[in-house]
Amino acid sequence: MTTKAYAAFNAVDPLGAHTIERRTLNAKDVFIKIDYCGVCHSDLHTAKSDWGPANYPAVPGHEIVGRVEAVGSEVSKFKVGDIVGVGCMVESCQHCHSCDEGLEQYCENGFTGTYNSKNSKYGGITYGGYSENIVVEEEFVLNVPTNLPLENVAPLLCAGITTWSPLRHWNVKKGDKVGVVGLGGLGHMGVKFAKAMGAHVVMITTSEAKGADAMKLGADEVLISKDADQMKQHAYSFDFLLNTIPVAHDVNPYLLLLKLDKTMCMVGAIEPFPIHGGVLINKRRNIAGSLIGGIKETQEMLDFCGEHGIVSEVEVINMHEINEAYVRMQKSDVKYRFVIDMKTL
Ligand code: NAP
Ligand code: ZN
Repeated sequence: MTTKAYAAFNAVDPLGAHTIERRTLNAKDVFIKIDYCGVCHSDLHTAKSDWGPANYPAVPGHEIVGRVEAVGSEVSKFKVGDIVGVGCMVESCQHCHSCDEGLEQYCENGFTGTYNSKNSKYGGITYGGYSENIVVEEEFVLNVPTNLPLENVAPLLCAGITTWSPLRHWNVKKGDKVGVVGLGGLGHMGVKFAKAMGAHVVMITTSEAKGADAMKLGADEVLISKDADQMKQHAYSFDFLLNTIPVAHDVNPYLLLLKLDKTMCMVGAIEPFPIHGGVLINKRRNIAGSLIGGIKETQEMLDFCGEHGIVSEVEVINMHEINEAYVRMQKSDVKYRFVIDMKTL
């Protein structure tokens, strides 16, 4: 069916109105009318072809919340009227080792991204949440807690799970000193989750002005990464670092913050960056990466947020304000996630 959307048409021009076709419902499909869609830095990377040429017109958006308006004949988990979410993936092979373990994001045959992905099963390119509605197989649809404001829930579908998953994987626990690097969409959720897990949380930021906010979000301390003296005072003291910086950068000053045997997990920069071997060798330090989270884990994270009243701090925008939002995001001027009210499309 013909659906209103907003798309990037090339890497330089502003995003604008577009129409796309959504498939008619198959047996396992859920038809979702989108209420809100969060704006992830990955949307911007894709629109600008930062990660290689995008498939234009590209319709970004993978922090989707909305209501079920129709279901296919074999859908068992959802019914019309349910409040649901869709994150970064819409399909995976469902039979490899990773999929069997609920790690669809590491599907050995490659998962299908919610946008700008080749759709191996249905053909064409996937279109994301900057649109009126979306059709997704039920395995990739999440239950959304009904006690939380929907616009504040949307960013949990990417920023939430991308920070939750590494914090859980590296077993962050009470008393650990955890540093979250970069206070943006991902970083602010990292602070909230690390705090909820009982850690002593240090916000590591380039923006001195964000310090007070970081404390309100739950940080116990703020460390200004540009201040070499402050960085020195925190050397060898961290149990875990979650690095959300969106571009390649000098990781060595951050690695020096880690204690013996501890890990810095990268979730932002995907480009090559230089690592000083001595910095790893001298304290048997680790550098690692993590990609979003599986569907089961995403549901666990959403349920946890419902129980603990954890949501994203959002600035709700109209669809036509997206280009201005991208400019602000590029300047690290986001508090702390833009969310599009899809009524304004
Ligand atoms: P964001 O809202 O723009 O936040 C990024 C923050 O990083 C900025 O607010 C800024 O924080 C800091 N920063 C920006 N440029 C920097 C630089 N050159 N040097 C040092 N710090 C810098 O972005 P986001 O939506 O949180 O996304 C972060 C990255 O994660 C993006 O690259 C995105 O594509 C990626 N991502 C990865 C996954 C995954 O599965 N691994 C999932 C979603 C997103 P301060 O002002 O505090 O310094
Ligand atoms: Zn994202």
